Amino acid sequence: MSTESTLLARCDSKCELCSSTSDLAPFVVAPHTYITVDHATILCGTCRAQVESPESMDVNHWRCLNDSMWSQVPQVQVLAWRQLTNLSRQGETWANELLDMMYIEEETKNWAEIGMDEDEEKARDINGVVLQKGDDVTVTKDLPVKGSSTIIKQGTVVRNISLDADPRLISGKANGQSMYLIAEYCRKK
Ligand SMILES: [Zn+2]
Repeated sequence: MSTESTLLARCDSKCELCSSTSDLAPFVVAPHTYITVDHATILCGTCRAQVESPESMDVNHWRCLNDSMWSQVPQVQVLAWRQLTNLSRQGETWANELLDMMYIEEETKNWAEIGMDEDEEKARDINGVVLQKGDDVTVTKDLPVKGSSTIIKQGTVVRNISLDADPRLISGKANGQSMYLIAEYCRKK
């Protein structure tokens, strides 16, 4: 099954925030940028538009969070938490009350908070941890090396990484070869 059909099966082809069935598409939850089963949700057109521009929120639409905040899917919890926080900041007391009731694991909450600050343009590993020059990372999946037939194996340690102008990339040396890696496919050691 493709990632998208796995996602659609998970949500029974309904928006994971409001249960609408119209204009469904995968939506990757920041700071992640690639559609994966663990980082993407299925949202309807209305939810996608409003999640992308919180300043144009239709408050009543977000009453749907009353139900979806209890989702078992971490990235749905992340979106619900962020939307409730935005609504609460706009003075919606019901949103604040839901936030108080919401059950969210520490790790999921850390992810939710990352999206709320202005630090999104930083290289982050698979767990959302900010990567810095000189860090050592472990590759989390087999990756083809750009411009060669080599595969860099999952578990390979890349030492003393450098950052790139593109925050999605880092560079470093493994097995004596210099290479660029997608930050999200690494884990900081
Ligand atoms: Zn929706």
